[in-house]
Amino acid sequence: MYINRSKTIVIKIGSSLLINDKGVIRKKWLSEFGKDIKELIDQKKNIIIVSSGAIALGCKKLNLNKKNLKLDKSQAVASIGQIELMNLFKKNLSSKKINLSQILITLEDTEKRRRAINAKRTFENLFSLGFVPIVNENDSTATSEIKYGDNDRLASRVAQISGADCLILLSDVDGLYSKNPRLNKNVKLIKEIKNIDSNIEKIATKSTGQYGTGGMKTKIDAAKICQFSGCYMCIANGLNLRPIKEIIKKNFCTWFLPRLSKLDARKKWIISSISPKGELIIDQGAISALKKGKSLLAAGVKKVNGKFSKGDHIKILDKNMKEYARGLSSFTSEEISKIQGQHSNKISELLGYISKSEVIHKDDMVIL
Ligand code: GLU
Repeated sequence: MYINRSKTIVIKIGSSLLINDKGVIRKKWLSEFGKDIKELIDQKKNIIIVSSGAIALGCKKLNLNKKNLKLDKSQAVASIGQIELMNLFKKNLSSKKINLSQILITLEDTEKRRRAINAKRTFENLFSLGFVPIVNENDSTATSEIKYGDNDRLASRVAQISGADCLILLSDVDGLYSKNPRLNKNVKLIKEIKNIDSNIEKIATKSTGQYGTGGMKTKIDAAKICQFSGCYMCIANGLNLRPIKEIIKKNFCTWFLPRLSKLDARKKWIISSISPKGELIIDQGAISALKKGKSLLAAGVKKVNGKFSKGDHIKILDKNMKEYARGLSSFTSEEISKIQGQHSNKISELLGYISKSEVIHKDDMVIL
């Protein structure tokens, strides 16, 4: 079972799991879901929850109908509902000794490399502090052009950025059926999908609009992101109490299998799209450190070529100008010229502010 094998798991909860169609909060469900989370934490897994529900809870508090909301009003409603959402989690999960934190993400945070790297580090630090981040889109500042709008795709990006092994989309359907189960008898649940071919797309398009906010279309979009991030993804019915336990036990859901390994996906992401913006020439000591899987420190940098920003893709060359690695820089080219050859504990003094200690973090580097 893919969940058992996963170290980092992202679980997305749709609004309909938290609030039923009569507007009643499903406290019992949340509390049972908390037991699932606690079990996963006890197995030393890193958990991220992506939860919708800010707008739905805001509407509930203000007695408004979600369907008639204009964008500007929905932004205010989301801000009111987000705190309700967090309170709900805190009340029902903290009693199980689950430490919670909140991250509100915008589209830019996931699409811009520099911000994505920062988000990755934040997730890692939260895991090492023993916290479970609860993520939602920052609906109060996002406008329609710069918005995910659905938490399915947002969750898949979070899975990609955090290097998750598995994403579980909990919704109110069992998964992807060969035909619409509400209209047809004798339909089969598709248990595993390796290729999202035109047939799968067709089934998914037909299902659009019937299930929750995102529908099946956004779930398939999320699956495509996961497949190329080396992440397993499943669509499962979350309406049962203890939904994760249920998936582990019965496996009655649709799994999308990755098409790349996580490592290959990360490497591809590091060196993809934009061409290198600059070069760092490093000494033999640094080459040996990199060979051992260490990060590149300022002390090993001999020279900087080109002008680049933080998060830019750069080449790492040895003293004979032979390309040795590629990576994403944690500093601008100007900053590196100030700190090159220096010990990491001098960096804040040289730059005048506290900063990271690695010039290129090992996770952001590909040895060629
Ligand atoms: N971010 C939205 C909210 O919290 C939900 C988006 C979705 O339903 O996927 O209300």
